[in-house]
Amino acid sequence: MSGALTPDLTEAERGRILAKSALFDPPTAQLGDGRRELVGLSRAEVAAEVAAVGEAPFRTKQLWHWIYHQGVTDFSRMSSIARPLQQKLAERFVIGRPEAAVVQTSDDATRKFLFRFRDGQEAETVYIPDLAEDRGAVCISSQVGCTLSCRFCHTGTQPLTRNLGSAEIVGQFMAARDAYGEWPSPTGEAPRLLSTIVLMGMGEPLYNYANVAKAMTIAMDNEGIALSRRRITLSTSGVVPMMDRAGAELGVNLAVSLHAVRDDLRDRLVPLNRKYPIAELIAACRRYPGASNARRITFEYVMLKGVNDSQTDARELVRLIAGIPAKVNLIPFNPWPGGAFETSSGSTIDRFAKIVMDAGFASPVRSPRGRDILAACGQLRTAAGKRGVSRALPSEAV
Ligand code: SAH
Ligand code: SF4
Repeated sequence: MSGALTPDLTEAERGRILAKSALFDPPTAQLGDGRRELVGLSRAEVAAEVAAVGEAPFRTKQLWHWIYHQGVTDFSRMSSIARPLQQKLAERFVIGRPEAAVVQTSDDATRKFLFRFRDGQEAETVYIPDLAEDRGAVCISSQVGCTLSCRFCHTGTQPLTRNLGSAEIVGQFMAARDAYGEWPSPTGEAPRLLSTIVLMGMGEPLYNYANVAKAMTIAMDNEGIALSRRRITLSTSGVVPMMDRAGAELGVNLAVSLHAVRDDLRDRLVPLNRKYPIAELIAACRRYPGASNARRITFEYVMLKGVNDSQTDARELVRLIAGIPAKVNLIPFNPWPGGAFETSSGSTIDRFAKIVMDAGFASPVRSPRGRDILAACGQLRTAAGKRGVSRALPSEAV
């Protein structure tokens, strides 16, 4: 088994990953009529646009407030800006949203959106309410498809079409907020329903790092959406060199899709393991900045009947993660047509959870949500592509 990567090798690997990722970048955020999309630009980029149209620097702050705090998409609603300037801005810029091509709400209030972007590409976003706590999480996609082909994942059957841009990533959250009427952004300590972001939708966020980082930096900006980094969780299948960078630059919570505790099995379930094996992945978790008992790393572990769910697996799991401030999220496998696995039984999951818990780690079992809608990630896009899913009613469209 290989040891930790040397720093030089890691730097070279990062360069290689970022260069490859750029090949899949989205089309430019400029409309056919020449207007520029403002959503997804960094503050510095908004400032440059403001300067380019001959306006004073303080307009950047104003625009940012209207776009990301108030959630307006129409320049004529920006009441602190005089009408002639509103018109000038509207001639040059747009504040867009992805279009909701399909919206499905489950009996348990989970709501799934299939968002369509300007070039017709589509990705899924899921709002998962925490009904007991009066809040919820928005599960966001980072790519259309995925390169990684994890065996139990439906998205992994869809080749990578392209990365989502920063506007499309933060835009999923903004469009979900539109749907729940949750603008303006809360100030202070009053979280709303859509109060956390989990990057657990389609795609591998660390293979689209530049766009994900830009989108999350926008979401964390205090004068806009203002989510604290504690309210954002990035899930990775284990792109080790980029985990260090995400920790240093974004400092968001980390979730790691472990799913197996032996390299031979993980090589098969999560093929990226052949490149970054378990020992390197766990080493990267140990050095992840900011991990503490208050901010634990989540290890995701999909329970696959007869594959990775034995008590020996559970004991090896707690040995592997010993000393890491961590919790283990046990995810009953979400079946999809053609998938080769079955969900572990409730009693097997309970036995597994008990071993993890007795070792001192919280081991919540993720309750299946939205079972009556197409719940396994990536299914909605496939079904819609086959016209097997009814399109959104106008009243449901965002
Ligand atoms: N690509 C990233 C984030 C998206 S997947 C990653 O792999 O971490 C989010 C989580 O859902 C991962 O832990 C993934 O392994 C899990 N997952 C994928 N398909 C699943 C299925 N059919 N049932 C249960 N969990 C699944
Ligand atoms: Fe990609 Fe994550 Fe699915 Fe693996 S589990 S194929 S990394 S989306």
